[in-house]
Amino acid sequence: MYNAKAYAAASATSPFASTRIARRDPTEHDVQIEILFCGICHSDLHLVRGEWSGLMPAVYPCIPGHEIVGRVTKVGSAVTKFKRGDLAGVGCMVDSDGTCPECQAGLEQFCPNMILTYNSPDKHLGGVTYGGYSDSIVVDERFVLRVPSNLNLAGTAPLLCAGITTYSPMRRWGVSKGKKVGVVGLGGLGHMGVKFARAFGAHVVVFTTSPNKKEDALRLGADEVVVSRNANEMQKHAASFDFILDAVSADHDVNAYLQLLRRDGILTLVGAPAKPLAVVAFGLILGRKSLSGSLIGGIPETQEMLDFCGAHNITADVEVIPIQKLNEAYERLLKSDVKYRFSIDMASLKST
Ligand SMILES: [Zn+2]
Ligand SMILES: [Zn+2]
Repeated sequence: MYNAKAYAAASATSPFASTRIARRDPTEHDVQIEILFCGICHSDLHLVRGEWSGLMPAVYPCIPGHEIVGRVTKVGSAVTKFKRGDLAGVGCMVDSDGTCPECQAGLEQFCPNMILTYNSPDKHLGGVTYGGYSDSIVVDERFVLRVPSNLNLAGTAPLLCAGITTYSPMRRWGVSKGKKVGVVGLGGLGHMGVKFARAFGAHVVVFTTSPNKKEDALRLGADEVVVSRNANEMQKHAASFDFILDAVSADHDVNAYLQLLRRDGILTLVGAPAKPLAVVAFGLILGRKSLSGSLIGGIPETQEMLDFCGAHNITADVEVIPIQKLNEAYERLLKSDVKYRFSIDMASLKST
């Protein structure tokens, strides 16, 4: 074992503070990574503040972070995919059983024995896994991604969660040239959805409640922007969409978007409102429409997404912060006061 620097929350109401944690020495299949950047995902905030206690209680001290980009510093003797000095990424998962049907299908995110990057049982050291708000991490090479060398690393970190979360459902439902695609909500997830839909060649429409986001949506690649509170504007798009990505985690009326789908259209939820959504059955029945959900993506598809981003020069729009600004960033995140993701520069952790 060795000591790593990290920022941890001691309880649901404690601010993050500098600490030291134990990391395992790399086993023969492990890759040790010096973390260069870690994105701040809204899930980090939900979990650390105990908002998901029914689903997944946080264990304290809690060290979130699952949008990790860094450089390989050490590899185990059986590691074949990586060598010292390589760029590497780690997303939401660090292990799974590797044998169940989900793992066999490359859909490790649905494995019943999947281990999350933080707050999951740590089979090596006991306790729970610790995430990317840290200067290093040790991960089985099966869960380490290759990072294209041409991308800005601060903006690459959020691809590991926000990126794959939006890429995967668009691939699943065939977003491509000639398709009309909607993205609801222009935040960390939504802005990636716009970039991918654009790169896939679709006609992209952004739905937002804030008219002042219009210019930014167009800059990010939207062809049109609809202010969702404007019923007239909404009506103009009735029954015309092939696919709508709903990235809103606040309470909202999903029926307003179902009626914008054409026959056999798909609406996929990637945001998770706390309150159950009310769905008008006829909104689905008329036009044979589907309402679905999606969770990150498997390791093979996450690699595919990173390679796609390398080829198309796609990264997240980030505000880079030193880790000393972590607590302030959380307060701003609550107000959606970030364009569009915070990315922590881990060089700042050296001075703590
Ligand atoms: Zn996330
Ligand atoms: Zn499995």
